Amino acid sequence: MTALPPGSTIGILGSGQLGRMLATAAARLGFRCHVYADASGPAFDVAAETTIGAFDDGDKLAAFAREVHVVTYEFENVPVVAASAVAGIVAVRPGPKALAVSQDRLDEKRFLDSLGLPVAPCAAVDSKADLKAALATLGAPAILKTRRLGYDGKGQARIVDAAQAEAALAEIGRAPAILEGWVNYEFEVSMLAVRGLTGQLAFYDAPLNTHDGGILKTSTVPSPLPERHLVVAREIAARIAEALDYVGVLAVEMFYVGDRGPHPLVVNEIAPRVHNSGHWTLDACVVSQFENHIRAVAGWPLGDTVRHSDAVMTNLIGAEVHAWQSLAAEPGSAVHVYGKRDARPGRKMGHVARLAPRVKAAT
Ligand code: AMP
Repeated sequence: MTALPPGSTIGILGSGQLGRMLATAAARLGFRCHVYADASGPAFDVAAETTIGAFDDGDKLAAFAREVHVVTYEFENVPVVAASAVAGIVAVRPGPKALAVSQDRLDEKRFLDSLGLPVAPCAAVDSKADLKAALATLGAPAILKTRRLGYDGKGQARIVDAAQAEAALAEIGRAPAILEGWVNYEFEVSMLAVRGLTGQLAFYDAPLNTHDGGILKTSTVPSPLPERHLVVAREIAARIAEALDYVGVLAVEMFYVGDRGPHPLVVNEIAPRVHNSGHWTLDACVVSQFENHIRAVAGWPLGDTVRHSDAVMTNLIGAEVHAWQSLAAEPGSAVHVYGKRDARPGRKMGHVARLAPRVKAAT
């Protein structure tokens, strides 16, 4: 297990803003990046090489795999068959198992449950009869979520009353789904863990996350999570990372229930990649989530995750990015613009991290 030296090429599947920030971090360590995606995106502007190809184009993927020294990905809907095909040629980190588990909410829940981790109660829903039965067991309110391809609150319907069952099924396009019981949480946090090639683990502070219309709006550190529960959050992420023999940054979204339930933290979902709720690490930490992901997949020692500043990260959604000039002039702010051409409503166009000197010492 030797570390890739500077000058090596890292392959990235996916061309979004996460790929862009990964490629930028990789460049800082002397790596080149080759981005493979089915369409041009923000990562293409900062990559040494790019390939446009479908994720089921075996020949193109194989040619890409032969040109790079390791492959990682920036979105979890890379088809598992594609990742597995690439893994036959060059190391894919994190491995295809992490992809498979996180692509299907039912598999994900079963996996987490098998590790003894608290998750929201849920039931598989493939028909109206399933939904009726699930509502009778779990009660309302509840949330109907598609098993696959849901993001930013898409593919979800809240059911407050059993009479809304039919409308909820229609809203999610009658796709295979799960019904999740309502979690009466105080707030939402995420844990960003990074696991190196030799099993070394490091953790970032857990941000408090707020959403607007299903899309992450802000991530704030420090969060009000009590120290003893921050420890629990780390243990949860460590157990998941170890069970998957994970390499790279892993994000675990959690509901903080505190004393309202039997478990202080309930796992909502995992993302086998760098995560929007960790963007503040670019400006508030010694080594960011992006650089640590690159370090891990390249077999380098992990960098220091310590947070030197307090931070509020705010996503710039749609036209909000047009305020770049005033945001850039704000003292203590770090503005990041992803270079997407079209500021469509609901589209993540950039983010701003507002920093202040750290108030409470690291523990
Ligand atoms: P998700 O796509 O699973 O992250 O869900 C999007 C948002 O819906 C979460 O960030 C929560 O605010 C809310 N949510 C999802 N599942 C539940 C649940 N079981 N109970 C309460 N709120 C939920």
